[in-house]
Amino acid sequence: MLDQMPQGLNPLSPSQAQQFTDLLGGMTPVQQAWVSGWLAASATLAGGAAAPAPVAAVESTPLTILYGSQTGNARHVASDMAEAAKARGLDVKLVNMADYKPNQLKSEKFLTIVVSTYGEGEPPEPAEKLFAFLGSKKAPKMESAKVAVLGIGDSSYEFFCQTAVDFEDRFRALGADVVVERAMFDVDYDDHAAGWIGGALDVFEPDLKASGAAPSNVVPMPGLAAPVSQFTKKNPFLAEVAAVQKITGRDSTRDVRHVEISLEGSGLTYQPGDALGVYFHNDAGEVDAVLARLDLDGDAVITLSDRELSLRTALIEEMELTQAYPGFVEKYGNATGDAELIALAEDKVLLRDFIEPRQIYDILRAHPHKVEPQALVDALRKMQPRLYSIASSQAEVEDEVHLTVGVVEWDAFDHGHLGGCSGHLGRRAEEGDRLRVYVESNDGFRLPADPTTPVIMIGPGTGIAPFRAFLQEREAQGAEGQSWLFFGNPHFTQDFLYQVELQSYLKDGVLTKLDVAFSRDQAEKIYVQDRIRENGAELYQWLEGGAHLYICGDANRMAKDVHAALIDLYRTHGNLSAEAAEEALDTLRDAKRYQRDVY
Ligand code: NAP
Repeated sequence: MLDQMPQGLNPLSPSQAQQFTDLLGGMTPVQQAWVSGWLAASATLAGGAAAPAPVAAVESTPLTILYGSQTGNARHVASDMAEAAKARGLDVKLVNMADYKPNQLKSEKFLTIVVSTYGEGEPPEPAEKLFAFLGSKKAPKMESAKVAVLGIGDSSYEFFCQTAVDFEDRFRALGADVVVERAMFDVDYDDHAAGWIGGALDVFEPDLKASGAAPSNVVPMPGLAAPVSQFTKKNPFLAEVAAVQKITGRDSTRDVRHVEISLEGSGLTYQPGDALGVYFHNDAGEVDAVLARLDLDGDAVITLSDRELSLRTALIEEMELTQAYPGFVEKYGNATGDAELIALAEDKVLLRDFIEPRQIYDILRAHPHKVEPQALVDALRKMQPRLYSIASSQAEVEDEVHLTVGVVEWDAFDHGHLGGCSGHLGRRAEEGDRLRVYVESNDGFRLPADPTTPVIMIGPGTGIAPFRAFLQEREAQGAEGQSWLFFGNPHFTQDFLYQVELQSYLKDGVLTKLDVAFSRDQAEKIYVQDRIRENGAELYQWLEGGAHLYICGDANRMAKDVHAALIDLYRTHGNLSAEAAEEALDTLRDAKRYQRDVY
């Protein structure tokens, strides 16, 4: 509603003022903004000054925040940014890259990308399609777009935030104006993200306001629309370990544990496909050994985010001591004057080779110094929770949550090594122990809404976890849809995870088909993709009949090889070219009928 024209300084006659008010009142805010700029320019011209560029009407376009998230971090930061924009009254659209139609790019004016990186510097699964589109001939010119890019990564890995760099490069190549300096945050992004978000919104705000965009309309993210528990990554629930059971045989080369955790009293809910975030405890024995080696007093008081606690407690419960990262070598080297570490910190390639096989414990053991307790803590990163695919359905286990944990274990530098979280859950945790947990939703890995839809599940090793949840859920639903599971592990007698349960599901018809690949039970390796090839014709029929396909487990080799087997399936049984077979799988993926949870 346009204000009545003020009297007093108003130089117009009453009838002119009325005409003007009527005319402006019929205009949209964008038209009014344009007229205002045009009049200002005309007035300056009339005064004989140099003509400023005419003020062009800016289309009413929101700030689009696109996130590509593997483990939820990028999603959380993008959501924080959307909330901050909303608090400023800005129009904002928050979209998962997996749900984004790439041909909308041509109409974007204000765009923020929040993206993680995984594997060998590759985009996370939900970002793959958009990333490929940006690098293809179909990508539009984006000369009128203003773009900001935020990367979330883990500096333990060589290709730290590479996907953010690549996204930015691709936008620049399309002519977009990168208006905010790219940020690349490590796992402790929480300490820095708010500052970057504020700075980026300062840059976008004037343009967004000038565009006359309507007040904010944050599009709720799927998954956050569900009731959100008060327990989150930032505020985890202190849960009780209810059971830990080894589910591989005595002679197995793998140590896999079935872990049951009680969520009683938390109000936490989850869906099949979700993951559990777990904050673990470092090995108290290892911590005491390190304190002794560095001649440090575990009772020394240190400060961590405004909290005071003992050095020993901080090292056991709060700091990352397993995953080394380049910043530690640099900071600890500088704090102790260790010449070898200082030299390493200056050579990126050597530093990478040094860090790769070592845990923080290894570095401290080999470079002991009586460092200031606070300096030691300041050199370390805060512990990051580990995510495990949930192996249960609440329809079956109510307020429990089950995990399938492969214990990571190896020998190096004359010491045994255990993974941080898998070591805690698999070897040290006892019934009744408490640990901090939260649910990380994963809408990219969901059973079909219609229980009559057939499902194909491919989950070798601990990749079986979410499929145990799927089967429990389907049994509880009395689902009539067919289901087919492909499972693989080294040996039938030692490594058939959940064998009794799976065979009973098969008997009861909850599972229609079960194909197993025990890789080391014969001279030649047999993998799940071999079973897929053997069953090609039938599998192709299931897919043509509308089945949803799921893969969970190792991303580096298995998921790629299974993908290749699926391409072959479409080529052989669908008579498609390699390119058309890829397109067929892309179409399946777009229809959310090909979902992967791999890392
Ligand atoms: P694994 O190492 O994946 O081994 C399971 C079986 O797969 C073995 O029989 C193994 O055979 C075989 N295998 C090896 N290379 C393969 C290939 N290229 N294609 C197909 N099969 C292959 O099992 P795991 O130790 O239980 O590890 C599971 C992996 O999945 C881990 O990397 C874990 O982090 C990941 N995981 C991810 C998620 C998730 O993304 N949500 C959940 C659970 C587990 P051989 O060893 O005999 O060669």
